[in-house]
Parts: sequence; C-alpha cells; structure tokens
Amino acid sequence: MDAAARVLELSETIPDFPKPGIVFRDLTPAFADPTTFRAVVDELAHSIDGGFDVVAGIEARGFLLASALAYSTNTHLLAIRKEGKLPGDVIREEYALEYGTAALELKPSSIPARSRVLVVDDVLATGGSCLAAARLIERAGSDIAGFGIVMALDGLGGVEALTGYELRVLLHEP
Ligand code: IMP
Repeated sequence: MDAAARVLELSETIPDFPKPGIVFRDLTPAFADPTTFRAVVDELAHSIDGGFDVVAGIEARGFLLASALAYSTNTHLLAIRKEGKLPGDVIREEYALEYGTAALELKPSSIPARSRVLVVDDVLATGGSCLAAARLIERAGSDIAGFGIVMALDGLGGVEALTGYELRVLLHEP
C-alpha cells in the first residue's frame, strides 16, 4: 500500500468540527502510525524537482511534517507561525477565512538568504494559508521550491490558488 492509500485508510472524517457545517479531515491518526508517517515523509522528501534547502511547516500540523522532513533530508527547518507567537522582528501576512481574517508570521532572520523553500502542511483547503506563507518567504528574500501537501480538499480552490508554484499532493479528496 502506498502512502496515499495508507493515509486514506487511517484518517478520520469528523462532521461539524470546529463549527457546525464544517467537515474536518483529521490526519493525525495517519501521522501516528509509524509506517504511514515514514511513507508520507519519504514521498514529500522526493517530491520537488530541483530540490530545496529549507523546509517550512505551517502551524501546527505542518510542524510535524516539516521537522521530520528537515531531519531526514538534512535541511534547514523553518516555522511559519500563527500571529503573536514569535518574538522579535517579524513580518506578517493576513489571509481571508470563511468569516474574518487570520495571519501568519515569519521571522526573516530565521531563514538563510536566497533559499529554496519547500512549504509543507497536512491539508490544503482554500490555499489561503499556503499563499500567505509564500508571500512571507518571498518578502524575506527567498524562493518557493514548492508545496508538499498530504491531502487536498477538492472544490475549495486551493490547487487553483497555487497555480504557478510547484505542488505535490499525495491525496485528493472531494
Ligand atoms: P486553507 O488555508 O483554507 O488552505 O486551509 C488549510 C489550513 O487549515 C491548513 O493549515 C490545515 O491544517 C487547516 N485545515 C483546513 N481544513 C482542514 C481539515 O479538514 N482538516 C485539517 N486541517 C484543516
């Protein structure tokens, strides 16, 4: 069984979480399984043509993937955090949520100049958080090598929003 099939088998679908009407895909049971997590990390590690020298995780489940990837590929690890968590000089990008806005932040001093950055996350929905991460990395003077996503929720616009960037998705779900 490949990584995508294992993730599909082990992930859970939870209706009305975190709000009524939202169907939440929980991939953490798949990440908890050592064979599946290793397969996911191995596939993402070889997903981007031209390689990368920084792995960035989007808070919070992206951190799980990014730290394992940085370790296994011996690359620099970068945390892209929700607002208000990083000390010192940070840059910030807002993005739209279904209701209201959210923001991600990055500490420019935490990323080597002119890096090629692989951005990873568990789920791609509208693409708002990945695009905000890309803007932060580009403002900090580095390039996006690509995005590595475990599950894309089709119909929410995320894949289309990332047009022009290299994108590797292990699994598409309706
Ligand atoms: P987007 O910014 O709309 O693409 O939403 C993706 C972000 O929200 C990622 O950081 C995901 O971890 C989180 N997210 C959105 N929907 C889900 C879901 O169904 N399951 C798990 N995470 C989700």
